[in-house]
Amino acid sequence: MSPERVDPDDYDLDALRERFLPEREGERSTSIPQLADADPDLCAVALALPDGTVRASAAADVPYSIQSAVKPFLFALALVDTDGEALGRVGIEPTGEAFDAIKLESDTGRPPNPMVNAGAILTCALVDGDDPAARIRRIRTGLSAFAGRPLDIDDDVARSEHLLGDRNHALAHLMRAEGTLSATADDAVAVYASACAVLVDTATLAVMGATLALGGVNPVSGERVVPASVARDVVAVMATCGVYDGSGRWMRSVGVPAKSSVSGAIVLSAPGILGAAVISPPLDEQGTSVRGRLASEALAADLGLHVFG
Ligand code: GLU
Repeated sequence: MSPERVDPDDYDLDALRERFLPEREGERSTSIPQLADADPDLCAVALALPDGTVRASAAADVPYSIQSAVKPFLFALALVDTDGEALGRVGIEPTGEAFDAIKLESDTGRPPNPMVNAGAILTCALVDGDDPAARIRRIRTGLSAFAGRPLDIDDDVARSEHLLGDRNHALAHLMRAEGTLSATADDAVAVYASACAVLVDTATLAVMGATLALGGVNPVSGERVVPASVARDVVAVMATCGVYDGSGRWMRSVGVPAKSSVSGAIVLSAPGILGAAVISPPLDEQGTSVRGRLASEALAADLGLHVFG
């Protein structure tokens, strides 16, 4: 380890949090009332290390809906449940467009990648389960294994997402018309809405990120959650597509595969090294938490996490 790199065991996460708390840029998502009312001063950061240690700043136990930080885990579950067939059902190319762009691959009708809404609506429909309730149960159980503890769903958030997600309904109808989605559009959006409404906190989200970073084994529970090949595929797609139309800039400046979300949560998977998570609701124009991005840049620099050195 080079002398300027800080050991994750010694890293002062409260100092990192306090450094970026005064930042005032960004706006909360107004897509649903629960996000519009989120505390703009919520800010937390956590690390999960290979030996199962979880290190967290103040406020890392405050719960929030996972929103799109769920997408890597949905992709992982879909890959497992379809025995890899999901890779033929969803593309893996970055779009350079917004998370909810009404756009499918023109030659195949597939969603462009599993990190945008179209792709996640599809991966939700690919997990095991004969009906929406069964698929929601499967997703909840699968996410809980990534987390190493039972996770709940915020039913009010799920209802709002389902009711107000007009673009998600449009994407589901489009995929159905293209023959890429076999569930009904309403069922598909219902499952996706519940997946976005799973409640996590920042310490938990760091453990979930670590499970992907560490080859599919949860470092806290010791459970193998997904095969190493699945974890590798998911982290690779996080690297290229995880921050939507900001993915290129993210990989240059932070250099750690990650997934952003409208709740302001970001899950990071530094391959072979650690998982991390940050939360702060005010977002930039690409839907990335402003404080989350700044804290991630500092974290990656201080711990030497940039995958390209
Ligand atoms: N539930 C949000 C939506 O479908 C997720 C988007 C995000 O977190 O980026 O619009």
